[in-house]
Formats: sequence, C-alpha cells, structure tokens
Amino acid sequence: NADTAMYRAKDAGGNNMQFYAHEMNARALARFTIEGGLRRSLEREEFVLHYQPQIDVLTGKVVGMEALLRWHPLDKPPMSPADFIPIAEETGLIVPIGEWVLRSACKQTCLWQEQGYAPLRVAVNLSARQFKQKNIVSLVKKVLDETGCKPEWLELEITESVVMEDPQSATDTLQELSNMGVHLSIDDFGTGYSSLSYLKRFPIDTLKIDQSFVRDISTDADDAAIARAVIALAHSMRLEVVAEGVETIEQLDYLRAQGCDLMQGYYFSRPLPPEDIEKFLKMNKSRSRLAAMPRMVSA
Ligand code: C2E
Ligand code: MG
Ligand code: MG
Ligand code: MG
Repeated sequence: NADTAMYRAKDAGGNNMQFYAHEMNARALARFTIEGGLRRSLEREEFVLHYQPQIDVLTGKVVGMEALLRWHPLDKPPMSPADFIPIAEETGLIVPIGEWVLRSACKQTCLWQEQGYAPLRVAVNLSARQFKQKNIVSLVKKVLDETGCKPEWLELEITESVVMEDPQSATDTLQELSNMGVHLSIDDFGTGYSSLSYLKRFPIDTLKIDQSFVRDISTDADDAAIARAVIALAHSMRLEVVAEGVETIEQLDYLRAQGCDLMQGYYFSRPLPPEDIEKFLKMNKSRSRLAAMPRMVSA
C-alpha cells in the first residue's frame, strides 16, 4: 500500500513525492504516538470501563451490562474506542488491555453483588486478536478464579467475522468456553457474513442485532424486515436476541412487538461509570422508561 503510494508519487513528480512521504510520516507518527500513549496508560491505569444496561423488555429488569472501554489519558483529551481499538489490535496491545478489561469487569460485577444488587451478567467485548490467542480459554478461567466471578455472570461478545475466519477452530474455542458456563454472544450481527449452517453449530447463546439496522427501523422497511428476520432466526435456533442502539420509543415499540428479548441503547441509558450505574439501578430507571410506553401501562 505504502509502496503503491510511493510509486504513484514518483510518477507524478518530486513535489508530490514529498507530499505523500510527508502525509505517510504524519500518519505513522500519529499511530506511533497513540501506541506509546496506550502502553503508558496501561502501566498508569488510565483506562476505565463504562457500563451500559441491557433491559428485559417484558419485565423491565436490568439483566446485564456491557462493559465498554474508555481511555482518558492524563495529558490528552479522551479518545473513542473506535479510534484507538484498531491501533491496539494492530500493535498487539489489545491483548494486555483486553485482559485488564476482562479482570475489571469480573471484579465489578462481583462488587455489585456484594453491595446487594441482583446478579448482573457482564458482557465483555473480545477482539479478533484476543479470541485467537492460544491461551484465551485458560486466561478466562484464570480471571474467573482470581476474581471469584461465576462463569454464568460473564458474557463474551465476539463478532461474526472473527468466528467465520476460521470456523473450525472458533467452534472449538467457543465450545470450551461454553462448557465452562460462560455466556457467548455474536456482536454486530448482520454486518458480517455468517454461514447459517455454522451459526447453528456454534455453541452461542445470543445474537446482538447491529445498531445500523435499528437506527431507521421505524422509517425504513428494509431495516425493519432485517431486524424482524434476525429475531425470528435467533428464536428458531433457541437463541436470545438483543437489540443495540435503541434510542427512541418507536424503535423500542417495534422491536418489542417482534419479540426481541433484550434492549440496549440511549433510550434507557448511555454507557455510564459504575457510580452512575448504581444510581440507575437504585432509581429503577429502566422500569420508569418502560412505564412511559402506552402499551405497558395497559398491560
Ligand atoms: P460494540 O461492542 O458494538 O458496542 C456498542 C457501541 O454502541 C458502543 O460504542 C456504545 O457506546 C454505542 N451505543 C450504545 N447505545 C447506543 C445508542 O443508543 N446510539 C448510538 N448511536 N450508539 C450507542 P463505543 O463504546 O464507542 O464502542 C465502540 C466499539 O468499540 C464497540 O462496539 C466495540 O466493538 C469496541 N470496544 C469497546 N470496548 C471494547 C473493549 O473493551 N474491548 C474490545 N475488544 N473492543 C471494545
Ligand atoms: Mg459489543
Ligand atoms: Mg455491537
Ligand atoms: Mg460495533
């Protein structure tokens, strides 16, 4: 890629050559700076986890939380995971960062239970690189042992593309995790490609409908049809289905009418630091949001 850019630059003459080289250096430098920043932050513990509630729409209960990584370097403005996770992935830093995420999330859910909250399943995102580590199963086991977190309180989210890259070895890994009692879900479902025959064979528990289908669900007939089909597919395979990115009562209403089991999104809550999650749980905010729905009142 860099080579073709150079080649084109050479073709176009000396000035452009410099221009391209300059642009590439700037990008490489930015990347290098971020990498260094991530490495330092890992040592200084400048990462935090925010949690986003997952709500059972029939009961209004919070059944789980997704842990979402936040990076607040002391000397720089916070950066979105969409920007730094790919760099962490490429440099391999996602492996130690991911281990930190897993351990922190397991600790947090135990802590909430000690504080008297009902058991909350905590969902942790696993990157491709992490999932492919040879020791991923033993790492999960070790973290569960060390933190005292029960396997059924942990959910691991993996994307379709990660499991479809090498379906056979993914099946083996998923099977070992599933045997341990860990809950497994496919994140961003519908955005990658899944062979349905594999999907049936993967020992997974949950499909998460990608938010890109939820966004225009009340106005775009195609998105509505996709969401409806994913819900039907999941249920026919006895999988639970979660909708991500639910922001409006119209989206919630449609998804609920289609039988979607769990919802996650700004309509209920943004991802929040643990203290704010505790307030959310105390005030039972998810129930009051549901009570705002006309149909719930009459039910
Ligand atoms: P994801 O796992 O699909 O997470 C859902 C993303 O949607 C989160 O973005 C969340 O804040 C956002 N979201 C939730 N509800 C709504 C809503 O109602 N509307 C809109 N517009 N967005 C909503 P976030 O936190 O920026 O994370 C982005 C992605 O970064 C995640 O997508 C995940 O792929 C990755 N990521 C985050 N934390 C981790 C982590 O600890 N490890 C790994 N490997 N990846 C992570
Ligand atoms: Mg996720
Ligand atoms: Mg997702
Ligand atoms: Mg995503």
